[in-house]
Amino acid sequence: METKYLNVWKNELDICIRCGYCFEKCPVFGVLNWESDTPRGKAILAYGLLSGEIEPSQELADKFFQCTFCRECLGSCSADVKLIDLFSAARADMITAGFAHDAHKYMVESVKKTGNIFNDSELKAPVSEGETTVYLGCQYLGRGNLTKTYLNILEKLGIKPRVKEEICCGFPFMALGFRDEFEEHRKKFLEMFPEEDIIALCPTCAAFLEEEYGKKVRHVMEVIAERVPEAKLGGKVTYHDPCDFSRELGLIDEPREILEKIGVEVVEMPRNKKDSSCCGGGGGILMSDAELSGRIADGRIREAVATGAEMLVTPCPTCEKVLKEASMALNKEGENNIPVRNICQLIWKAIK
Ligand code: SF4
Ligand code: SF4
Repeated sequence: METKYLNVWKNELDICIRCGYCFEKCPVFGVLNWESDTPRGKAILAYGLLSGEIEPSQELADKFFQCTFCRECLGSCSADVKLIDLFSAARADMITAGFAHDAHKYMVESVKKTGNIFNDSELKAPVSEGETTVYLGCQYLGRGNLTKTYLNILEKLGIKPRVKEEICCGFPFMALGFRDEFEEHRKKFLEMFPEEDIIALCPTCAAFLEEEYGKKVRHVMEVIAERVPEAKLGGKVTYHDPCDFSRELGLIDEPREILEKIGVEVVEMPRNKKDSSCCGGGGGILMSDAELSGRIADGRIREAVATGAEMLVTPCPTCEKVLKEASMALNKEGENNIPVRNICQLIWKAIK
């Protein structure tokens, strides 16, 4: 089989010395416990695919799909192997070979048809004239109340948000391996969002707009951190660092500073900041393997409950959704759980 996308990463596969440092904290390995589920295992499978020793199959494709793209392994690899790029390329070659996951195919088709991942052509952005373009992203587009809250916060802090008709940033195409389809989407996206400077609400969109389109992106949390006034909201929360937010965008202090400024105490989970553990919702596994996603989320929500905080807050709509479901599952089992909220809800309550 021709491995068009993996070929580019041959050097990376040669650099990997198979030492295994990368898999200790991999959330997928933490749940499934098989070598083939580790980043090293996946790198070996990718090598086999590239060298022709392993034939493409659905089983192999499913191994590459079992990754949350949490970036944890990148920080543990002393050889600096670009594991996420490798897995993304392997996924793209598997798609070309005809082994897409049905749920992923549906999501990409939805974006092509309606512009968003929910296959909902009725979903419309709250378009407004303003000075600074704010990009919502599908997850916030689908959650009007949270979006409104962020826009209210920005206005209160003296920024006039300009909201336009939306289209998905295209991350699902690249993350799930649909590279050829992405080229068409990229053109559409750039026609709708030619501007250089953008404030993004979603951490994953923010990282993707920067990486893929070279935009100058500020995540809304950075903007809020600069302008939020002091308040005395009170309460004790634990803060969940979304993977793209802390490990890729390096936004670690900003949300904590905001919480401190509005008078909220933060109690940390054992794994936090750059070492935060994944919520289980990324990389497409929420659609292709909901059970695995739920088991990863269960581990994270238990860490949050153990802090004794009154609430878990996070700026990522996906983390929020996944952890909320994990918390509700604990409740159903009669175990202690914890309310999960988007951080914007606390900020707005403090400054409105
Ligand atoms: S990816 Fe890095 S850490 Fe993992 S086995 Fe290869 S060299 Fe070691
Ligand atoms: S990105 Fe996360 S889930 Fe994927 S292999 Fe690396 S540590 Fe595991």
